[in-house]
Amino acid sequence: MARNTGCILTSKFISNWPLAPVNRAVVAIVLVATGVAAPLSLQAQAGAPVSTPLSTQLPTLGDGSDMSSSAERRLGDRIAREIFRDPDYIDDPVLADYVQGIWQPLLAAARARGDLSPELDERFAWEIMLGRDRTVNAFALPGGYFGVHLGLIAIVSNRDELASVLGHELSHVTQRHISRLISKQGQQTPWLIGAMILGALAASKSPDAGNALIVGGQAVVAQNQLNFSRDMEREADRVGYGVMTQAGFEPQGFVSMFDKLQQASRLNDNGAYPYLRSHPLTSERMADMQSRQPLGKPGAASAAATLEHAMIAARARVLSNPGVDALRALLAEAEGAKLASMAAPRQASALYGAALAASRLRDFPRAKLYLERLTALVRADERALRLSRWLDAEMALSAGDAPRAAAVLNASPGGRHEGGADARRPELFLAVQLALQTGQGAPAGEAAQRLQSWVAAHPRDAQAWQLLSSAYATQGQSLRAIRASAETQVALLDYPAAVDRFKAAQDLLRQGRAGDAAADHIEASIIDTRKRQVELLLKEQTLDR
Ligand SMILES: [Zn+2]
Repeated sequence: MARNTGCILTSKFISNWPLAPVNRAVVAIVLVATGVAAPLSLQAQAGAPVSTPLSTQLPTLGDGSDMSSSAERRLGDRIAREIFRDPDYIDDPVLADYVQGIWQPLLAAARARGDLSPELDERFAWEIMLGRDRTVNAFALPGGYFGVHLGLIAIVSNRDELASVLGHELSHVTQRHISRLISKQGQQTPWLIGAMILGALAASKSPDAGNALIVGGQAVVAQNQLNFSRDMEREADRVGYGVMTQAGFEPQGFVSMFDKLQQASRLNDNGAYPYLRSHPLTSERMADMQSRQPLGKPGAASAAATLEHAMIAARARVLSNPGVDALRALLAEAEGAKLASMAAPRQASALYGAALAASRLRDFPRAKLYLERLTALVRADERALRLSRWLDAEMALSAGDAPRAAAVLNASPGGRHEGGADARRPELFLAVQLALQTGQGAPAGEAAQRLQSWVAAHPRDAQAWQLLSSAYATQGQSLRAIRASAETQVALLDYPAAVDRFKAAQDLLRQGRAGDAAADHIEASIIDTRKRQVELLLKEQTLDR
């Protein structure tokens, strides 16, 4: 019983991360690789060495010590690469910016407290991947990757609640819980463990084919081997609480999040809350968090919903459920007679959702009306106003109204920012999209310059590289466009695709079709160097089986 208190790597925990068909193929590969009747059962295999020819050359995981941080990172990269390919993986700049605004202070606090060592800080990705899924879930993966479903963002009431969940997950990784679980897998190769995690993701995604393969078999037992212990959960609560409060979030967020999950568990068990099933709320955990609350603040600034968060939650709802019926329901919500009597955050949420929904339905006049009401409502709140401005520009771009988008972006504080590196990402991307929409020449050149500074500071930002590639292409700079496209693939951890593109760039140079000889000479040496570096990464990835 007690064994099933863990969270992160269980199939239940990650059950709603949607994966592409490619991962179903991984399940099939596991079947072949192990060649036993209960294909995913690590338990059954614990004593038996895996007869993979390469296993002797691998970093050992089962020598009693924890998995090395670099081996764990490579395992995480392997899993992340598959998630990046999933159609439900979403890099929405606005939601990502909001989550980063919580995540970065948590990381900084973990560093300051010494929970996050400089070594681990350097080695791991510390990257959050958003999933379009409507279920309430968040999870940590090997190597410092984290998944957050839009369903979670949509149900929390404020930043503090989200910070409590992220702080907990972060602490599972800083406390090396994952490496300890993986070490327990004995002589399993990273390749097999990665395949097992991906297999669990894929199988749980499909209610028919995948589950039929493994449910009821020893696979379930095997996945329970990757559950966190009750002690690990308690430690993640304790450390996570320290991290989130040091980062300046309200301690009450931890308790109100627990309350929220407990209410949900009473109301339903229809699978909408995988987080709950993987993080059972024991009375012990609840009492522990209650006792940590500062005295004299009984639920004080508790679940105070902010305008900003209400709008972000509305965005998460729209993006996680983009069907026409759901969008129409959001319009109806904003038309409700009672809306005006509701609290301001509720109104802001309804209006933001309706404006975005109307824009998605391409009913731009209606979208504009909702946006005007929204802007009037939030005009005194700087953070909320910024979100409504970004929505305004986004809607104008969807409508093909470049002058409107330009006017909004030029009027906003960061809109005409000279440098790219310290711009706000959503604003930068909107400005670039505007430049691409309006065409060649100066705007695209300026956009490319801003993006160059951005990727110099954020080299793993795949979407920025992709936009940079488009900006170069618009200017007719084919060679640079191909190189930026190669870097997009590197950021998505798809090294074979990246090498292909570097080769294509070299071909272009060899044919002498690239243009400017002097500039090409510099570009050629960059391409050669990067190609060699990525080929090395690819070799490592291939060896690591
Ligand atoms: Zn946990």
